[in-house]
Amino acid sequence: MVVGAGFAGLTTVRALSGKPVEVVLVDRHNFHTFTPLLYQVASALLDPAEVAHPIRGLVRPLHNLEVRLATATGVDLARRRLETDVRPISYDFLVLATGSATNFFGIEGLAGRAFGLKELEDALALRNQVLRQFERAAWTEDQGRRRRLLTFAIVGGGPTGVELAGALSELIRNVLRKDFPSVYIRDTRILLLEAGPSLLPAFVPGLRESARRTLAGRGVEVLLERKVVAAGDEHLELEGGERLEAGTVIWTAGVRASDLAASLGAERGRGGTVKVGPTLQLPGHPEVFVVGDLAAVTQQGLQLPQLIPPAMQEARHVAGSILRLLAGEPAQPFRYADPGMMATIGRNAGVAEIGPIRMSGFPGWVLWLGFHLLQIVTFRSKLIVLLNWAWNYLFYDRPVRLLVRAAGPDPEAARKRGRKLN
Ligand SMILES: Cc1cc2nc3c(=O)[nH]c(=O)nc-3n(C[C@H](O)[C@H](O)[C@H](O)COP(=O)(O)OP(=O)(O)OC[C@H]3O[C@@H](n4cnc5c(N)ncnc54)[C@H](O)[C@@H]3O)c2cc1C
Repeated sequence: MVVGAGFAGLTTVRALSGKPVEVVLVDRHNFHTFTPLLYQVASALLDPAEVAHPIRGLVRPLHNLEVRLATATGVDLARRRLETDVRPISYDFLVLATGSATNFFGIEGLAGRAFGLKELEDALALRNQVLRQFERAAWTEDQGRRRRLLTFAIVGGGPTGVELAGALSELIRNVLRKDFPSVYIRDTRILLLEAGPSLLPAFVPGLRESARRTLAGRGVEVLLERKVVAAGDEHLELEGGERLEAGTVIWTAGVRASDLAASLGAERGRGGTVKVGPTLQLPGHPEVFVVGDLAAVTQQGLQLPQLIPPAMQEARHVAGSILRLLAGEPAQPFRYADPGMMATIGRNAGVAEIGPIRMSGFPGWVLWLGFHLLQIVTFRSKLIVLLNWAWNYLFYDRPVRLLVRAAGPDPEAARKRGRKLN
């Protein structure tokens, strides 16, 4: 059984396709999310359907597989049963790939006020918030209030924060400026806060500086060595007593292992991840594997980053190990091959570090576009994303500027009114 249809889970079931095993894939969503483009949903460039794909459609060609929509709530290791919110499911082998969630590090006032960018729902909520703030500002006479409404504070100078800051700046300067001529663009601020001394700390210093310069040139205020210690209504408090007024706070500064980790009773690594042995098996339970963002996999004394390449490589390795174990052979230790990393800062600007090769500016951007286009899961999405990118590039337009709120029967409201919903 495979739990989680993200990058690790989906890769595992694909690697087991056509093999003499019966696979059950469990996920709490009926779709797989292509996370690298979530920030483009949040910044009104792409529709959700271009970054999320129905799981059943993706796995339809695999004949030895069943999909179950359920939230895993725990694992009964002794009875080899996955507990879910529907009912328990028994397993012979279990691959846990439930990923990670936004980590607010228990900072006072942050949860419930700050927007995350981890799931599709987060991206939609953020898109609504940005558009709503401009609509509110259009009604506002008071300049101080308007400035607060139009200040967007992004916390976390890693790739997600950098990419979102660049995309938000383009949305505001190229599109919303024209949509809202009465809202003074000079009242808009995008702040990018980072606790460390530089943006993109995983990249070499030259690329970090290139990203900072590019963002600054696009009107993003990059605030380094600023640590958030508390959040209140429309403001952030920083270490040292500084206070920043911001109508919207977006938190991209950390992730923690998904809640399922707690139910395993295993030793934990960074961010509550589950420590596994060199073969990715749970210590004491050779039938249980943990992969992707959920796993703490250590190589040469360092925990592997929570990124797509480790998740997919671990998944392929685990599928191979399950087949080996079934054939009576032992599981082999996992070795990670680092393919490099890249980030985009918006139009004509990206950074890439692949082995000894370093790229920034236009070449880095083209490489980012090409690589991500190839990675998008379905051919239809590739085509639509390419069209949207071309449209945006040529016409400086972000077409998906819809304020949409999901609505439907509300059983709770009906109950309060004393009516029964059929
Ligand atoms: C905005 C953003 C941008 C990113 N950009 C990049 C990038 O450009 N390059 C890169 O390498 N990495 C990027 N990452 C990191 C990358 O997304 C993760 O490392 C990768 O998704 C990990 O894969 P995974 O399979 O472990 O988890 P995920 O892909 O997160 O999949 C977890 C799956 O488990 C399901 N699940 C969770 N809990 C339960 C439960 N209790 N029961 C049932 N199902 C459950 C979820 O619905 C999900 O389908 C980005 C992440 C974010 C948030």
